[in-house]
Amino acid sequence: MTSYKDLGLSNTVDLFAKAVAGGYALPAYNFNNMEQMQAIIQACVETRSPVILQVSSGARKYANSTLLRNMAKGAVEYAKELGYPIPIVLHLDHGDSYELCVDCIENGFSSVMIDGSHLPYDENVALTRKVCDYAHSRKDYVSVEGELGVLAGVEDDVSAEHSHYTRPEEVEDFVKKTGVDSLAISIGTSHGRAKFKPEQCTRNAEGVLIPPPLRFDILGEIERRIPGFPIVLHGSSSVPMEYVRMIEQFGGRLKDSVGIPEEQLRRAARSAVCKINIDSDGRLAMTALIRKTLAEKPEEFDPRKYLGPARDELKKLYMHKNVEVLGSAGKA
Ligand SMILES: [Zn+2]
Repeated sequence: MTSYKDLGLSNTVDLFAKAVAGGYALPAYNFNNMEQMQAIIQACVETRSPVILQVSSGARKYANSTLLRNMAKGAVEYAKELGYPIPIVLHLDHGDSYELCVDCIENGFSSVMIDGSHLPYDENVALTRKVCDYAHSRKDYVSVEGELGVLAGVEDDVSAEHSHYTRPEEVEDFVKKTGVDSLAISIGTSHGRAKFKPEQCTRNAEGVLIPPPLRFDILGEIERRIPGFPIVLHGSSSVPMEYVRMIEQFGGRLKDSVGIPEEQLRRAARSAVCKINIDSDGRLAMTALIRKTLAEKPEEFDPRKYLGPARDELKKLYMHKNVEVLGSAGKA
């Protein structure tokens, strides 16, 4: 048994309170390997941003949970070594059972998501409540994220055929009955790099897909019902066309990619939205640079020579997000 406090990690309680009051959102970046971790920590230290390191169940399968936990511990030390200790949260993304949440909490996670959004309302309440009861009764208080509403799209093991927006009339009751520390909502963001079908979008003059706008009316109604309560947005990559084009230029195929425009995320970050999940953009940046490097240097076979440029691009992307989109820069 390991408490996150022994690893030097933070839960989300104070960080979210500050973010809601300050009108910015914390970055929640997924990681599965060392290069991603280096890029995240370097970017967040340089921009002085707190950060949420997210681990999905897919990442646990891919990288081993013991290794991931110790990488998060290493990240705390690494930030200090870089000269500026930032608050770091280790968060389980899309926990799908009570047992998985408990396992993560007992192994150093400072925050977990229990995703009961696909269940009937009462079952979602009961499951989320059970996880909160355990996480909050501990001496070290682990924070819990719940979800109401179902996002479209596919992400690791998570996919939904029938998405629906969060019903504002449920949020007050859900928060009260479960005791969650934050709530993920569905207002039109979507998992993955093809967030909308072409027929849901319009096209601009260059033929680029323009997605339907986020439902700020629903967000506003939720904020009215639970003022100041920390809100989370999943599936919030912007899917930069420069990366999509680079990937396609060097042999990839990513038909009909479309994301959430950054100005809409910036607007959301200024509200009670205090955590924004970004995964696909990082995947695209890394893949683009790996494809480009390998295509331009066909003799290269040292992984450091193509993972290194990918890592540098990823760092650049994360710094841009912290400064220009989330507003978290300078808040650590
Ligand atoms: Zn998600």
